[in-house]
Amino acid sequence: MNVAERSTNLCLYNTLSRRVEPFRPIDPDRVGIYGCGPTLYGPAHIGNFRTFLFYDLLHRYLSWKGFRVHFVMNLTDVDDKTIRAARAAGLSLREYTAPYLEAVMDEAELLGVRPFSAYPRATEYIEPMIELVQRLLERGLAYSTPDGSVFFDISEFPDYGRLSGRDLDEARQSERVVEDDYGKDDARDFAVWKGAKEEDEAVGAAWDAPWGRGRPGWHLECSVMALSEVGETLDLHLGGEDLIFPHHEDEIAQSEGVTSRTFARCWVHAKHLRVDGRKMSKSLGNILTVRDLLEEGISPATVRHQLLSAQYRTELNFTREGLEASAKAIQRLLALDDRLRSHPVAQDAPGTDLPDICAQATETFQSAMDEDLNVSSAIAALFGFLNKVNSALDAAPRVLQSERAEAVAVLDSLDQVLGFLEVGRRSREVDSELREWVEGRIEARARARADRNWAAADAIREELANRGITLEDGPAGTRWTSDSASVDTPRAQG
Ligand code: AMP
Ligand code: ZN
Repeated sequence: MNVAERSTNLCLYNTLSRRVEPFRPIDPDRVGIYGCGPTLYGPAHIGNFRTFLFYDLLHRYLSWKGFRVHFVMNLTDVDDKTIRAARAAGLSLREYTAPYLEAVMDEAELLGVRPFSAYPRATEYIEPMIELVQRLLERGLAYSTPDGSVFFDISEFPDYGRLSGRDLDEARQSERVVEDDYGKDDARDFAVWKGAKEEDEAVGAAWDAPWGRGRPGWHLECSVMALSEVGETLDLHLGGEDLIFPHHEDEIAQSEGVTSRTFARCWVHAKHLRVDGRKMSKSLGNILTVRDLLEEGISPATVRHQLLSAQYRTELNFTREGLEASAKAIQRLLALDDRLRSHPVAQDAPGTDLPDICAQATETFQSAMDEDLNVSSAIAALFGFLNKVNSALDAAPRVLQSERAEAVAVLDSLDQVLGFLEVGRRSREVDSELREWVEGRIEARARARADRNWAAADAIREELANRGITLEDGPAGTRWTSDSASVDTPRAQG
């Protein structure tokens, strides 16, 4: 299938039109996407990663279809929450947010999130933020208050509320915006700039602006980073469902207020992850991070599979049973990968069904993904392929080299989008490096014991124990087990 054929047919649910629509970028050679990224006030949890993996899936799928994608995900390193937390910790914003930034980037890489085109940090865009506020003031869309704050005047923006479809008279009272009480005219107006308070100064979150010292509002930050890094009109703006109101509604008002152009042609929102049937929240104490799961020995590929297993608009409930099923799915894929690549070939082998199986798999996979990224059906297509290839190989002790190569190519192609093998193979490499190292140490210990150097032998046992490796000596030699489930255990040695 050529790129032109592939690039059509994708449909996505647009929150703005409330319909599943064909995806038609302004310029297929540069699809411009902005996704709201993490707020660096604490560790990102697996719910955030459901959303980031949804971004990754869309990013990979658009690239697979032949689009050139310019995908920007921001980092929120200044807002109410980061300031409050930095203040409580007695650190500057930079110092406070640095470890969370490092952790979220590391975890994204471990889960196989492909690098995005840019990661703008809010604190590096203060200058253009001040310019945008200035333009809003000049256009009469915003007003300043005596404490140096600036508010967007929503009575000047008739389209306000179109994205969320909210009744605005009641909407704003209950939301995250309640905190934005800096002397505004109307409860529905929102802060684009917040006059500096003592706590802002203390953490280095205050900048001079013509109307007064202060800091940008959270919604303004995303408008400016999107306009600066992607352009005046985005093909897609992404985020979790909680951001529709007020965050994205406010982004539209500010951006369209200054450009007088459509800010984003299509808005796509991912549904929140639930944990054991409940909303994940700090107050319920059910926050889980990717690191927590990896420390339990769950492999990154398993976590990736689980968080991607449901289409972005459907409920995904994170459970232990679900993780076990994902671990099995990854094992079956890795086993197929090995089997297929090493299956014997012969020039005179009779033809098999493999070419038909391949054509059908790509077709079914693509139609599922085109249908509003129906990833669960796409994964089912992959497993349908797996079962049929296994049966074809069972029936054919030898296959034609070209047929085997085609099947390998299909497996790799679908994995370009799903990334399960990509991430699964990495853990196996780590496993095999670990295995080599452990076995080398066990040999050294056996030599030390043969020399009756008990102190050296004990030191090696301890060195291994510190890495979570337990040794068991028996008549058949020394067996070892690892407390990391990413290494198959137990394993015999000697
Ligand atoms: P935050 O760090 O809270 O600014 O969120 C970063 C991204 O994760 C945003 O797009 C949120 O909408 C999204 N998000 C937050 N909580 C969840 C959740 N439980 N499930 C899925 N996505 C979430
Ligand atoms: Zn945002």
